[in-house]
Amino acid sequence: MQLTLDLTGRRVLVAGSPAAARRAVRRYLAAGAAVAEIGAPAGLRPDQLDGTALVSLVDDGQDWAPLAARCARAGIPATREAAAAPGGAVTLVGGGPGTDKLLTAAALDALREADVVLFDRLAPHANLDRLAPGAELVDVGKRPGHHPLGQSAIEDLMVARAKAGDHVVRLKGGDPFVFGRGGEEVDRCRSEGLPVTVVSGVTSAISVPAAAGIPVTYRGVSHLFTVVSGHAPLTDDEHRHLAGLGGTIVVLMGVNTLPDLTAGLRRSGMRPDMPVGIIERGYSDSQRTTVSTLGGIVTAAGAARCKSPAVLVVGDVVRQAAGSELRTLADTLAAS
Ligand code: SAH
Repeated sequence: MQLTLDLTGRRVLVAGSPAAARRAVRRYLAAGAAVAEIGAPAGLRPDQLDGTALVSLVDDGQDWAPLAARCARAGIPATREAAAAPGGAVTLVGGGPGTDKLLTAAALDALREADVVLFDRLAPHANLDRLAPGAELVDVGKRPGHHPLGQSAIEDLMVARAKAGDHVVRLKGGDPFVFGRGGEEVDRCRSEGLPVTVVSGVTSAISVPAAAGIPVTYRGVSHLFTVVSGHAPLTDDEHRHLAGLGGTIVVLMGVNTLPDLTAGLRRSGMRPDMPVGIIERGYSDSQRTTVSTLGGIVTAAGAARCKSPAVLVVGDVVRQAAGSELRTLADTLAAS
């Protein structure tokens, strides 16, 4: 059962050793409560419950039963809280393509347990104050003055906070190990002797096409898909191999190099009427799909002013694109 209480300005007594109680204390402070703390049962004074709206008993191995009994006699509600896990650790969390709905149960657990959350621009951050109550939230994708922190500065911050005893959640967009520099961050934690856990996330490579109705595989249409980074243009060899595979090609970070990709695939013999889709800002209110062909997509993307973040899909599965896009595709194919 869950109850909602407005604790603004109300006195909350948190009972538990300081390390075990630190997360509960931060959560109640974040809820606007006037927090009092008691670290051991022996420290309980007779007047300590006066004016108290709620008592939080932290499950830290000490015997809080006498305090619970006093609360019951005084009619003060008492809650039980899990002890905060020891800090000094990092959890790398894949946040999915941007909506809370695609956070995993493990991601939600990690956020709930976080002392500090370092989140990226494409991570789902709209509701972090609720999902990570009381945690300090640090936007490493956009700092004052709009300068994102560099990779090594992010890693330095992550390490410094974990070494100071915090449970650090490094929240990333999609999956941490798909173009997310997750491997580097794990290496850094290991080299610093810090425990690190990785929580896989739903990658945009699959979920963003899905948001537009495009399955990356489809029986009889495509039985393989390749995910590539379009951060830098591919080589001719890579274009040739990709075209030769005959499956779906999914490109992340590929808006700026789209002309290189289409030209390279054409040179490698891919047919000009191969469907291509661009899905921008998947799962946001402004999600948009532009569908054309290999021969037409550069013009179509230019006319539509397609921008990053977007996932590109090259392959016959793009014909499955939902709704009005399907008509666009049909129109484009008919015209080509
Ligand atoms: N680790 C991430 C990818 C990071 S690279 C993952 O697994 O999804 C960043 C690229 O991901 C963006 O340039 C874009 O190509 C893609 N991307 C991530 N989220 C997106 C979204 N909501 N809509 C469209 N593209 C997205």
